[in-house]
Amino acid sequence: MKDKKGIERRQFLKLSSTAVLAGLAGRLSGHQPEENLSIVEEAARKVGKLPRRKLGYSQREITIIIGAGDLELLPTEAGVLCGMNYWHKANRWMKNGAPGVIIKNRDAHYCQVTVDRVGADHYQGHFDEEEHYRYVKEALEKTGLRFFDDMQLHYGYHNTMELKEDRSFIRAFDRLKKEGLVKHLCLSQHSYEGSSRVENGQSAAEVLTAIVEDGLYEHAQIIYSFGSDPEMDKFLAFAHEKKFGTIAMKTARGIGRMKQDESFNNKMPKDTSPYNALVRWLTTKTWLDAAVIRVRNLEEFVETYSGAGKEMRPQDVRALEIMTAEADRTACRLCGKCQSQCPRQIPITDILRFERYALDDHEWTKAGKLYAELPTKGDQCINCRSCVQNCPLNLQIPEKIARAHIMLTTDNRQRL
Ligand code: SF4
Ligand code: SF4
Repeated sequence: MKDKKGIERRQFLKLSSTAVLAGLAGRLSGHQPEENLSIVEEAARKVGKLPRRKLGYSQREITIIIGAGDLELLPTEAGVLCGMNYWHKANRWMKNGAPGVIIKNRDAHYCQVTVDRVGADHYQGHFDEEEHYRYVKEALEKTGLRFFDDMQLHYGYHNTMELKEDRSFIRAFDRLKKEGLVKHLCLSQHSYEGSSRVENGQSAAEVLTAIVEDGLYEHAQIIYSFGSDPEMDKFLAFAHEKKFGTIAMKTARGIGRMKQDESFNNKMPKDTSPYNALVRWLTTKTWLDAAVIRVRNLEEFVETYSGAGKEMRPQDVRALEIMTAEADRTACRLCGKCQSQCPRQIPITDILRFERYALDDHEWTKAGKLYAELPTKGDQCINCRSCVQNCPLNLQIPEKIARAHIMLTTDNRQRL
């Protein structure tokens, strides 16, 4: 059934998208696609084999662009053809089972299960050894993957004390590892610095430094994007020296809105694009081992991943300068430095993260749902501007959260 659906979808896309892809192919390479190649193979051919790097203590070779369980089927198939071999959030395949291209060659792939705190969200939830153990087993049964290579703590620890004192997640991992069901421990780490929703929250860099020194986790996913970020740059250099693996996430700060802005696009140099320049930079100019970058279809797959591991050309350098100036004016980098300043305890970083989901990833439903769950919303702002003074980008936070409040509580986007 699944294969049949895949074929039907492919046929449909052949009919409906060839013109779009042909246009893109022409723009990027100057050639038209050969008619006897499927659109997936054609996209993969344009990207080519993705380079690999060694990850963390295990020194596993993973592609410098990793995939994710919420990637659409066609980009997933194209990724496999390009050698993509690490799959973040593989538990997202619980609904329909892991893709056939991965199941049939399981040992050629590294699949990661992402595990949340239980009982509430990542602020109020808690660790629970039994529940984490049970969830991973359920995820294995439903995905059909037989084992997970990596067990990832989603959102990370609130502070270094929590890391030292609460080992429930690690105990669940140890039990699963003894049964041969998981192999490596990793985490994604957000910043809790100044958060009103957790006690003694610390920055991502502070917690991650303690994680490396603790020695149990093999690698981490970190929020990292273009523009100046001295604290995270220092951590990345430290992690590299210690052979601790690093994978960037939430990398495309503000790019979704840039692409929709005609005046911005008019400023961009020819023969590059924001996503292509971003990927060149991430994969050749940083200490990162890999990055995860969301693409929604084969067109974005080609545009984005064709830059992987390629040197930056003068037009890419210029593009990145223009993108940085634009993003520093408009898009939060989720560092959390503003949080502790707010007398109304407004979760500024969360609100601006949801703004990014809506404006950059076009995930309006998800952003609105998450915003509705916040205990304190942007309309509680008294415009004292204490937060602005602590923002390294000097973002006009009160105006941004007021705008986000309207945007995420109404369907009437014309009001913005
Ligand atoms: S301006 Fe608004 S968001 Fe910023 S610190 Fe004051 S109340 Fe909080
Ligand atoms: S608003 Fe500024 S200080 Fe606050 S998280 Fe975003 S970039 Fe950091």
